[in-house]
Amino acid sequence: SNPTTYITTCPECHTELIRNEGEAQHYCPNTKGCPPQIIGRIQHYISRKAMDIEGLGGETVALLVKNGLIKNYADLYQLVVEELIPLERLAQKSAENLVKGINLSKEIPFERVLFALGIRYVGETVAKKLAKHFKSIDALMLASEEELVLVDEIGERIARSVVHFFTEEENRVTIQRLKDHGVQLKISDEQLADQTDILLGKSFVVSGVFTKVSRIELKKLIEDNGGKVSSSISGKTSFVVAGDNMGPSKRTKAEGLGIPIISEDDFLQMIS
Ligand SMILES: [Zn+2]
Repeated sequence: SNPTTYITTCPECHTELIRNEGEAQHYCPNTKGCPPQIIGRIQHYISRKAMDIEGLGGETVALLVKNGLIKNYADLYQLVVEELIPLERLAQKSAENLVKGINLSKEIPFERVLFALGIRYVGETVAKKLAKHFKSIDALMLASEEELVLVDEIGERIARSVVHFFTEEENRVTIQRLKDHGVQLKISDEQLADQTDILLGKSFVVSGVFTKVSRIELKKLIEDNGGKVSSSISGKTSFVVAGDNMGPSKRTKAEGLGIPIISEDDFLQMIS
């Protein structure tokens, strides 16, 4: 039988592949010069859950990179309609929409910008936690691994990755450029004004249908006031916020564990 052959260099940029201890996959370490990685980072930046840039799709990103118009996501903010029009398949109207969509992304809140940056292991949830805790990119950039692991649900692997990201000169330059273009790199004063620590250390389970706020708003209120939202009732649950049609099994479980079941009004009272 033939011995298995492994690819040892990146098929795209021919850099020798490496593998981190404990991880199965080999990867191309040429993060800054490997074309699919450059394109991938910008595609992540513009994606729905990140900056949600309307009028710009993954294929256009690849086209812009291939034509040398952008090399990283900060370059997006310098695109002008005139230089887009000569590109194949881009009509005047689409070019205008693209630039408009990019400008609108300056309104996207900090937690999503942080997710959009593409820091390894920083997904949506982690980005939210970090944004909430540090409140600005400046504070986050100054945080040590020791400070980072003190944040709820941030482990060593994430902490190391965050610190590493900000030690790279190129990333710091990119962030400064985003800042200069007016991208949200701190929690807005409005957002800040709505946040408290009233529910710090308390864990909530939300069940049923609510009348004054939606279930999503209710969860956001819990988190904005320092509490945690959990999906299942356990000994660690502090309160169950019950709306109409709360699941009977949830009720039985909460009662069995002696966890207080409170109404939507009780909850709103708690944070007012
Ligand atoms: Zn490569």
